Amino acid sequence: MTRASASTNTARCAVCDEVETRESPLVAVLTEVRNHHAWMHAGACHERYREAKTRERNGTKGGAV
Ligand SMILES: [Zn+2]
Repeated sequence: MTRASASTNTARCAVCDEVETRESPLVAVLTEVRNHHAWMHAGACHERYREAKTRERNGTKGGAV
């Protein structure tokens, strides 16, 4: 474990709980909570988040699979 010394961005990915890397920068994604955004990796993590949200929305409607 190394401590980030001069980094101002200490946010962690809301999906996988990892810090950002060069290959996977974090992006701020607006959540359903007003004025609140979550940090997550662009790409796979963001897709997972959006998939989960879509499933949530579809689930409450109780539609056919
Ligand atoms: Zn992630």
